[in-house]
Amino acid sequence: MERTFVMVKPDGVQRGLAGEVILRLERRGLKLVGAKFMQVSRELAETHYAVHKGKPFYEGLVRYITSAPVMAMVWEGPNAIQAVRQTMGATRPTEAAPGTVRHDFALEVGRNLTHASDGPETAVAEIGLWFKPSELVSWDRATDDWIMGSN
Ligand code: UDP
Repeated sequence: MERTFVMVKPDGVQRGLAGEVILRLERRGLKLVGAKFMQVSRELAETHYAVHKGKPFYEGLVRYITSAPVMAMVWEGPNAIQAVRQTMGATRPTEAAPGTVRHDFALEVGRNLTHASDGPETAVAEIGLWFKPSELVSWDRATDDWIMGSN
């Protein structure tokens, strides 16, 4: 079982697409274990995007992420990291596959609606950065066996 950090970025919230992103992840079978609607501080944005510091798009990226509220979430499931990245689509919306969130709702890399952890180490680090352990809920879902059962 994996957990991954997912964020609906300010453009997604402003455009009323937070529900659409949640709907797609729910329908995929992933389980929500944490969520908060929040304004991102410059400090949090800089820590989250530290790997991009010095790149040409870094300042604009920090400004974008701190410009309006975001929906920060943790989703759980088998292969959750890969599954969520797949549902979101490629970083550049024009390279994202049809049927993905970024393809279906976005046009530019600078307004690509969502963030999702890109690997197991990043997922652990990002979940720890954005959520306290007490803010995450482990829960049994009536449909778990139908979604996560193996033969
Ligand atoms: N980004 C950008 N311009 C670029 C590359 C990235 O504005 O040329 C932004 C974009 O919002 C992207 C984020 O920086 O989602 C982080 O980039 P990364 O390559 O980690 O992509 P992601 O993991 O979000 O798909």
